[in-house]
Amino acid sequence: MVRITIVGEGSAGLLAALIIQNKNKTAKVTVIGSDTIPVIGVGESTVGSFGNLMRTHIGIDMNEFIREVNPTLKHGLWLDFGKSDFHYTFQTAFDFQKFNKTLPEGLYFKGGNYGNNEYSKDMINRNRPNPNKLSDAFNFDNGLFLKYLKKLAIRRGIDFKEDIIKTIQREGDKVVSLNGIHKADYFIDCSGFNPLLSKEKWKSYEDTLVNDRALIFTRETGDKTRPYTKATTMNNGWLWEIDHSNRTGFGYVYSSKYTTDDNALEDVQKHLGIVIPKHRVIKFKTGRLERHWVGNVITLGNTDGFVEPLEATSLMVIGHLSIYIADIIRYGNHMGDLPEQYNDFVNTYYDNIHDFIFAHFIYNKKLDTQYWKDYRKREKLFTKDRVGNTILQHYLKNGVHLKFISHAYNETNPFGLEGWFAIFRGLDVNV
Ligand SMILES: Cc1cc2nc3c(=O)[nH]c(=O)nc-3n(C[C@H](O)[C@H](O)[C@H](O)COP(=O)(O)OP(=O)(O)OC[C@H]3O[C@@H](n4cnc5c(N)ncnc54)[C@H](O)[C@@H]3O)c2cc1C
Repeated sequence: MVRITIVGEGSAGLLAALIIQNKNKTAKVTVIGSDTIPVIGVGESTVGSFGNLMRTHIGIDMNEFIREVNPTLKHGLWLDFGKSDFHYTFQTAFDFQKFNKTLPEGLYFKGGNYGNNEYSKDMINRNRPNPNKLSDAFNFDNGLFLKYLKKLAIRRGIDFKEDIIKTIQREGDKVVSLNGIHKADYFIDCSGFNPLLSKEKWKSYEDTLVNDRALIFTRETGDKTRPYTKATTMNNGWLWEIDHSNRTGFGYVYSSKYTTDDNALEDVQKHLGIVIPKHRVIKFKTGRLERHWVGNVITLGNTDGFVEPLEATSLMVIGHLSIYIADIIRYGNHMGDLPEQYNDFVNTYYDNIHDFIFAHFIYNKKLDTQYWKDYRKREKLFTKDRVGNTILQHYLKNGVHLKFISHAYNETNPFGLEGWFAIFRGLDVNV
C-alpha cells in the first residue's frame, strides 16, 4: 500500500488528496495541517474545466456540492481592458447568437449586456449551476468550498492530522519523515507561498508580472448575480468583482513598486464611490519553482507556482497537476523518468499561462499612468520564441477565423487558440 502524506489543508492540499485517492483507491492518504497557520482564503473563481474536474476526477455529487457550497455560475470574464471593454467567455456559444457574424470569433464577445437576448436572459436567470452539465465554471466562497472538500475527504477515509511541521528528516533527495513521526512514500508540499519541503530555486515572474498585493473586501450583492467576473483597469493594477450568492467579493490587485497600501485603498474607494469599512491586504509573489517533483517530494498550489489572480487559473492548475501526480504515482517503482518529464511539462504549463496573462497587461491601452506606460514598454519581453507570440503573428496575418495552429492545441496551453484570440481581438492588438 502506497502512503502519501500531504502538508496543507488549503485548496491545493484538499483537491490533491481527493483526486489522488480517487485514482489510487488502495493508497493511504494523510493530510497534515494546522489551524494556527491559516489558509490564504482566496481562490473563489474557477475556469470552464472545473466542473469536469470535480465530476470526473473527484467523483463529486454535484447536487450535494451545489447544496453545500452554494456556488454561482461563471460564464467568463468581462474585461474593462483595452480601448473599450469586452467579454472573454468560456463557451463559443456566443457564436450561435444572432450577431450577423460571418465567422466565429473565438471566445471574444462584445456587448457586455448578458440580459439583451434570449440566451443571455437564460444565463442571468439561471444563477444556479445545472448538476448535469460538465463544462461549468463556478464562483464560490473559499471557506464553504474548503469545508465541503474536507467533509468529503473524511467521508472517503482520508486521514487528517493536526500538527505543525517543524523538522524534516531527509536521506539524499528523499524525505523520510516529518517531525520524526510522519512517514510516507511520497510527500506533497501544499504549505502555501513559502515552500516547506522543497529546496528548489524560485524562478520569479516579477519583471513581467509586477503585481504583488491584493486589497480585498466584500459588499452585499445587488439584485442580480452577474454570471461572470468583472476585471477593471485601475491606476496601478486591476480590480476584480465576483458575485457570490450572498455577497460580492472585490480585490484590487496592484504593485507595491507603484503604489502604497493606503493609496491603493484611496484609489479603489474613489473608483467605486464608497467608503470601505473593512479590508485585508494579501501579499503574494509571482513565479514558479524550477523543479516540482524531486525525489519523493512534489510541490503543488502556491508553494509550487503562482501566475496572477487575473483569469483565476490556480485551481485549474492544481486540479490538472493532481491528475498527473495520481497517474504517475500508480507506476510506483516503474516510473522511470516520468518525474523529469513532469517537471518539463509543469514549467511549460506555468510559462504559457504567464505569457497569456502578460499579454493582457502589455496590450492594455486603457490608461496612461506610469504603471501602464511601463507595462507597454515590456512588450519586448514577449519574445518571438514564445507560443503566445506565434499565435499573435498568426492573428496579425490571418485575423480571427481559423481554429488551426497545431501547437495552440496542447495541454500546456489551456486557453486554446480561441482564448488567445479573444484577448488580441478584445485589446485590439495591431502591433
Ligand atoms: C490575491 C489572490 C487571488 C487569488 N484568486 C484565485 C482565484 O480566483 N482562483 C484561483 O483558482 N486561484 C486564486 N488564487 C490562488 C489561490 O490562493 C490558490 O489557488 C489556492 O488557495 C491554493 O492555496 P494553497 O492551498 O496552495 O495554500 P494555502 O491556502 O495558504 O494553504 C496552506 C496550508 O498549509 C498549512 N501549513 C503551512 N505551513 C505548515 C506547517 N509548518 N505545518 C503544517 N501545516 C502547514 C496551512 O495550515 C494551510 O492549511 C489567488 C491567489 C491570490 C494571492
